[in-house]
Amino acid sequence: MRRIKRLRLSARATKKLREEQTNANTKRADGTLSVEAEWKRARQNAPLKRMAGPRERCMYCGDSHGTDIEHYWPKAPYPERMFRWTNMLLGCADCGRIKGGKFPLVAGQRALVKPTIDDPWEFLDFDPETGNLVPRYQPATGGTTPKGEKTVEVLQLDRREALAKGYQKSFRRICSKIEEILPHAAPDAAALVHALTEADDHGLLGWCFRGLGVNANPLVALRQRHPGVWAACERAFLHV
Ligand SMILES: [Zn+2]
Repeated sequence: MRRIKRLRLSARATKKLREEQTNANTKRADGTLSVEAEWKRARQNAPLKRMAGPRERCMYCGDSHGTDIEHYWPKAPYPERMFRWTNMLLGCADCGRIKGGKFPLVAGQRALVKPTIDDPWEFLDFDPETGNLVPRYQPATGGTTPKGEKTVEVLQLDRREALAKGYQKSFRRICSKIEEILPHAAPDAAALVHALTEADDHGLLGWCFRGLGVNANPLVALRQRHPGVWAACERAFLHV
């Protein structure tokens, strides 16, 4: 999963969404709102694909092609958020099916990672052995984060075989790019940043340079042998 920067909508698109939401709210108050029918009629492909990056990946799993407008707060129980731009993400068919209408709350607060607001790697960890995404351990509490736990549970991030294989593949590519430059006396930091960006299909650079990946090899070796290159990567991948 990678961090996503939400784009600003045009004034026209914002107005259109506001009108659709007002219309839905009125119908809901009248008892005539059919959420599915209303959504089908009015849905538009907002600039979510641009937000998802050149590969147009699903914003939850980062693996499959993003094909659907995904409502972070599901639209059936929360129709008042159906046309809200900040509630829309780009999702894949698998994540949509697995998540369904589930939306975990912990103590009344949303407990599913929202990649446009949250840094996924604050709550998730990657296991290179299995390729799974798991909840991140917090030394301060001696447990894992509730948001990490719920996100992994709702999206089944620790038991999707194809997903795990994809993450492992990305990680192997990242490792080999780093291992290639380790023996060099003065590696080119910009070239490595470029190669790593190309190698990472899943947002794993966030895990590598600011998540718990900083303690894994070959990241540790890179930091120790080439601190300047490490710092350049840290800066470059701050928002991945
Ligand atoms: Zn997905």
